[in-house]
Amino acid sequence: MSVVALAVPRRLTTRPLTFGIEHERVAGFTLAWGEVDACAERLVAGSVALALLPSTCYAALAEDLRILPGIAVTMLATPQSPLAEEQVLDPLATTIDEWCARTGLPFVSWVWVGRPGAIDRVQAEALGRSLELGRAAGGQEAGLAYRLGGQELSGLAALVEEVRTLGGVRQRGLVRLLDCGDGPPALPRSARPGAVARSTDALLADAASGERLSPEDGLRLYHTAALLDLGRAADLRRQALHPGDVVTYIIDRNVNYTNLCVTACKFCNFYRPVARVAHGGAYAAKSRDGYTLSYAELARKLQETVDLGGVQVLLQGGVNPNLRLSYYEELFRWVKANFPLALHALSPEEVSFIAKLEGLSLAQVLERLVAAGLDSLPGGGAEILDDEIRDLISPLKCRTDTWLAVMREAHALGLRTTSTLVFGFGEEGRHVLAHLERLRALQDVTSGFTAFICWPFQAEGTRLKLHDDTTAHRYLRTFALARLYLDNIPNLQVSWPTMGPALGQIALRFGGNDFGSAMIEENVVSQAGAVFTLSAAGIERCIGAAGFAPRRRNMRYQFLSGAGSSAGLVSSAAGSAG
Ligand code: SF4
Repeated sequence: MSVVALAVPRRLTTRPLTFGIEHERVAGFTLAWGEVDACAERLVAGSVALALLPSTCYAALAEDLRILPGIAVTMLATPQSPLAEEQVLDPLATTIDEWCARTGLPFVSWVWVGRPGAIDRVQAEALGRSLELGRAAGGQEAGLAYRLGGQELSGLAALVEEVRTLGGVRQRGLVRLLDCGDGPPALPRSARPGAVARSTDALLADAASGERLSPEDGLRLYHTAALLDLGRAADLRRQALHPGDVVTYIIDRNVNYTNLCVTACKFCNFYRPVARVAHGGAYAAKSRDGYTLSYAELARKLQETVDLGGVQVLLQGGVNPNLRLSYYEELFRWVKANFPLALHALSPEEVSFIAKLEGLSLAQVLERLVAAGLDSLPGGGAEILDDEIRDLISPLKCRTDTWLAVMREAHALGLRTTSTLVFGFGEEGRHVLAHLERLRALQDVTSGFTAFICWPFQAEGTRLKLHDDTTAHRYLRTFALARLYLDNIPNLQVSWPTMGPALGQIALRFGGNDFGSAMIEENVVSQAGAVFTLSAAGIERCIGAAGFAPRRRNMRYQFLSGAGSSAGLVSSAAGSAG
């Protein structure tokens, strides 16, 4: 194995990261000590593979540098002296306490930085072992953590964006991670061997305290735990992850730019089929209500969103074979040039279809879309991530592996995405657990999912004549289990648009910490019978009445200043795809 050169400043805060290497219990690394500037210079000059740097310093360096996944020094509060003096906060002009209160996100203080390909998976795991030894050898400082999970990645992205904006560079906070291959995170999580028999109560207590559930444990809870016991455990977990009883929400608009689609999912009322035009490569709608929105229609919708305080547009459509990659590149550039909105656009099904249409890889398509302004991907089209169910309900839609591959590529490019689950297709508990396990396993590698949202299939008027259990009881059960099982996805969004605001309030006591979106329109699930309306002011009233403090947020779950009631914004939403 080749030896990896590391540049490291001498700091008490970062000492646990290099403890195992310093004490020669982890081999394969050399340490070059120096001040922060010298470490950064060594990295830029290529004389070391990785440097341990303040995140503010990373933000000011070249964009082609990557972050080691899994490990960082993270602050949830200003640490006690002398550690407080070690934090590099320039040029943010803030304290860590202020940062956390203002953004609602952790302050990521120190990160390992390197060039693409700097280390492989074995070497990344060795750095994780060095840290584990360091943590075992020393006490844990209050408010100090050493992981770079989903919430920390959001905090780092927010910080990078802020530092670059302060430096006069108007740039998105895309944080790209070193690709160290598949496998467990650098910091392994504790999970008891599945063979250890525990009572359901003990299982719930362990999960509530943050212990990882095995798939067998999860399936057992799914089948046997009492609903209120599941809810209580999920609520305790939510309190641990999101102390302070803040519940967030976002104002955005779901624009379905086309309803023409070749995927023909059996559960979908929204799409309109197409037929190939004779003697040409184009396709035409088979019915008169097929559409693709014009720029004039899009401009009206987007301007209205901005006027109503919206910060994001969720662009999703049918899979329209007339729309090439260049259409999306032009559209995204036009949106970014004319509207101050984050682009949360294109589900994995749309991305994989564009890749097939163009003969490009998923990564090539996503690279071009990111260059055109794409900020994040919605987690729509997941339904149940198990091909047994997908074959029944959407045989033409991307397979489970493709959905996950799109998300993985997106995360690798620094995009954050959401994740979803739709139940009520006649699936069994094992399918639900397989779905949750696949999301959790990918998140272990990428930390790219910001949130999870689930809702029941709305059967009314669709071709699927199913009579599965889609009641509130099953929703709350699935939701609470997800809070416990998805121990690495930070946010759980309640689905009031499909379940109703009252049930949304209750779900906040079943693990939810986000009230979703005051969407201005939605067309997919609403065409299958789910219609609830709520203004942003109404959302805040719901959150407050449920005993929580509402905060408006952006796509990365960062608090927005000046959040408050938005009288006049009325949603006719039905079903958020994330
Ligand atoms: S769910 Fe999406 S991909 Fe499936 S038919 Fe409807 S619009 Fe097309």
